[in-house]
Amino acid sequence: MAASPDSYRAISDKQVKVPVVTIETIFAGSYRPDFKSTKKQSMLAVKSFTFSPVQENTYVLYNEQKQCCIIDPGCYFPEERDELKTGIEKTGLTPVLLLNTHCHLDHVFGNKFVHDTWRLDLHIHPNEKPVLDFAPQSGLMWQLPFDNYEGPLVYLKEGNKIKIGEDELEIRFTPGHSPGSVSFYHEAGGFIIGGDVLFNRSIGRTDLPGGSMETLVQSIQTQFFTLPDETKVYSGHGPVTTVGFEKMNNPFVKMY
Ligand SMILES: [Zn+2]
Ligand SMILES: [Zn+2]
Repeated sequence: MAASPDSYRAISDKQVKVPVVTIETIFAGSYRPDFKSTKKQSMLAVKSFTFSPVQENTYVLYNEQKQCCIIDPGCYFPEERDELKTGIEKTGLTPVLLLNTHCHLDHVFGNKFVHDTWRLDLHIHPNEKPVLDFAPQSGLMWQLPFDNYEGPLVYLKEGNKIKIGEDELEIRFTPGHSPGSVSFYHEAGGFIIGGDVLFNRSIGRTDLPGGSMETLVQSIQTQFFTLPDETKVYSGHGPVTTVGFEKMNNPFVKMY
């Protein structure tokens, strides 16, 4: 992975144990005797794929009505595009939204395919437009040529909520790895899709155009470490982690 165009700092190969929420801890924190008032909260399910020589994580979030949102489709090879399409079809999902956390090449390889297949327009933060435009050149440099997305762009605004049916994703502005990186927080489901901001025991690289270590660390502290400890962090590369685990174990970010 040393030669990847968007590599993240090496993490241990060892399986990392993340805190497990037990039934005891759930009841200790939230037990309420009045069951009549407890409304079943709907939440999004997460399906993940790992694609391309860069081993990028693509996420598909879906609700009970089987509407889904595709985030960072990194499928590069034809068989990876088939895998995404088959995975979505087999689960009976209808894609309704296409999002990018940021537009480094490994996160945008499959944008055109998703647009052509399901007629979805790409949603990105406006600061990522130049990054998206540069992605094909970057692809040539890394010998990973691809056809870039050229359809309409819909711009995301930090603080706004995006809806997938009744379920909401909050847009958090998390620059530092890339100038317009955003993360998608699903409070009801207790998780955040963070792109290349925070990894299991690591953080995104900051030596690419528009990157800044200071900004990245600030994004993590203000937009990730302020979430509940049990919040799952689904990263652009590597295994899932939690906010609490990274607060304790991430060597690159001090807690506050
Ligand atoms: Zn990446
Ligand atoms: Zn990246």
